[in-house]
Formats: sequence, structure tokens, C-alpha cells
Amino acid sequence: MSPINCAEHGLSDTIQVCEHIHAELSAGHFPGEIHIDPIFWIKLCAACYGKIDFEKFKDLDFSALAERTDAELEEIEENLNASYLVVKTSYWCGECYRDIQSRS
Ligand SMILES: [Zn+2]
Ligand SMILES: [Zn+2]
Repeated sequence: MSPINCAEHGLSDTIQVCEHIHAELSAGHFPGEIHIDPIFWIKLCAACYGKIDFEKFKDLDFSALAERTDAELEEIEENLNASYLVVKTSYWCGECYRDIQSRS
């Protein structure tokens, strides 16, 4: 995840959120309910969280990925991409995110 260049905060950490949390933050509201995706740490609303089949990846050991063959890695990547296709995400400046959080 690369840093973001925020107009207000300059170079900052990024926080990936689903489109619904994005809409709330854009309106200056901090969402009351946020679910954290266990794989990429994306912040998701309940609906988006429910759409991703995390069960499929619960046994995925990222530390062991280096030992997989290219074909296996490709399959894992395809599975992940297909699963995450159901949610639209965007990146937020971490400082902006925490600002909204502290004001809520
Ligand atoms: Zn959502
Ligand atoms: Zn910012």
C-alpha cells in the first residue's frame, strides 16, 4: 500500500475503505459500524463484509506463500481477486480518516 499525498496533510498513510464508508467519510460522518477484512485490512460496511467469502481464505497462510509454486500462487490470486471484485474500494488519507473519527 503506497502513501497518499493529501492536500491537507501531505504524504500520509492510506486506509482502504469500501464505497459506502467512503460516502460516509466524504459527508464528514464517521460510520458507526466498521468491519475489518482479515486479509487486506480493508474497512468495510456490514453489507460489503457480508459479500466477501472469507471462509474460503481462512486457512491461507501468507507466511508460507513463498513456498508455493507459480501455478498455486496464480490460483490464490485469482480467487482473491474474484472475491474482492464484489466490493468497490478506495483509499483515504489516514490523517483525514482519524480527523473525522475524532470529531464523531
Ligand atoms: Zn460497503
Ligand atoms: Zn489528509
